[in-house]
Amino acid sequence: MEIEVLRIGQRLVRDDRVTTHVALVARAFGASKILMTEVNPEIRDTISGVNQTWGGDFKVEIIDGWRQALAEKKRDGYAVAHLSMYGEKIGDVQERMGAEERLLVVVGAEKVPREVYDEADYNVAAGSQPHSEVSALAVLLDRIQQGAQFERGFAGAKRRIVPSGSGKNVEQNC
Ligand code: SAM
Repeated sequence: MEIEVLRIGQRLVRDDRVTTHVALVARAFGASKILMTEVNPEIRDTISGVNQTWGGDFKVEIIDGWRQALAEKKRDGYAVAHLSMYGEKIGDVQERMGAEERLLVVVGAEKVPREVYDEADYNVAAGSQPHSEVSALAVLLDRIQQGAQFERGFAGAKRRIVPSGSGKNVEQNC
């Protein structure tokens, strides 16, 4: 399954840390790319540094506008899953979403325009209480892949963690 993430409504400067965390979760939980409107270039550098150390080829694409990006992805055959606390229960749609070949997961930052709800194939909630795009994204990606994302390796890693119940065990230059 190909998964990409679209973040809309980034609040300039204030949101840098959250945006970085959305990108880190997308990468660690099996997405291949995050699309977002112009943000602090340091976010790209951070993700690029994480790729270099921990492997993989996760991409950050800076887009001109979410409308165009959404339309292009739909043309490319992506089903669109918009995360919103007003959406359907995730347990009711996770199986259908998990069977999609290509999925674009849309997360907001502040109020999301009505158009996004209308364009989405799934409006899906990780519980019906407000929390965060970071947590909602993690829950969705885990539910649709049923944990398989954590079994995959990240090619070209300089460091690899050997899971351990007692302290840190890290292989270098693997
Ligand atoms: N007040 C905003 C609204 O009405 O859209 C919510 C802003 S919230 C801080 C930012 C994003 O987190 C939302 O756009 C949504 O993608 C995600 N989010 C927050 N709680 C969620 C939930 N319970 N289920 C799914 N997504 C959620």
